[in-house]
Amino acid sequence: MILGPPGAGKGTQAERFARERRIPRISTGDILRDAVQAGTPLGRAAKAVMDSGRLVGDDVMIGVIRERLSREDVAPGFVLDGFPRTVAQAVALDGLVDHDAPLVIVDVEVPEDKLVERLSGRRICSACGWLAAPAASECARCGGQLIQRPDDRPDVVRERLRVFMRDTQPLVEYYRRFPTFRSVDGDQGESAVAADIAAAVASVLGGTS
Ligand code: ADP
Repeated sequence: MILGPPGAGKGTQAERFARERRIPRISTGDILRDAVQAGTPLGRAAKAVMDSGRLVGDDVMIGVIRERLSREDVAPGFVLDGFPRTVAQAVALDGLVDHDAPLVIVDVEVPEDKLVERLSGRRICSACGWLAAPAASECARCGGQLIQRPDDRPDVVRERLRVFMRDTQPLVEYYRRFPTFRSVDGDQGESAVAADIAAAVASVLGGTS
């Protein structure tokens, strides 16, 4: 599980970690954005909430994760990115996972002024959702046009950070007591953060990671 404020680089790091280990990355933000694009009932219900920077309801999100974790591809392990985001979601997750396998919790820490800068400046591909490199002019994966995510507008960014401090910071405090909790410095280059995450996970799982 990867925790951290919006803009900490969770998505980038979760994607990289999952790719290197050939396990699925489960991003609730991506699941919701796909649902919005496809116009499903979930997407229609979530769009306005996401665009305002608030959180989708716990019951809805727990249902999404319950369904996702019932698929077979999670058997070798998986990376959770964006879930849980509240203590209620964490308690529900506890009832959904296999307790024989350790739950490694990695918190990526970045100072708040850096977060606003990163989020307001970033661009994603309008066609495939890929997160573009800072100075890119088109999507490196599919050549699509780059746009700002609707919730990366400065006013929404401020609301997301406020919601994070109110609803998700208590979750970080809740997990901090767990013996499998580790925190890493997210205010470094992407590869340095990835190396610290790998070391943090190895320190919990030992040689089996
Ligand atoms: P970020 O971490 O950069 O804010 P995400 O892509 O993880 O972005 O999430 C985008 C939006 O999707 C959130 O602001 C929220 O509205 C919704 N969302 C994603 N995951 C959850 C969750 N576990 N609980 C409630 N809302 C969620």
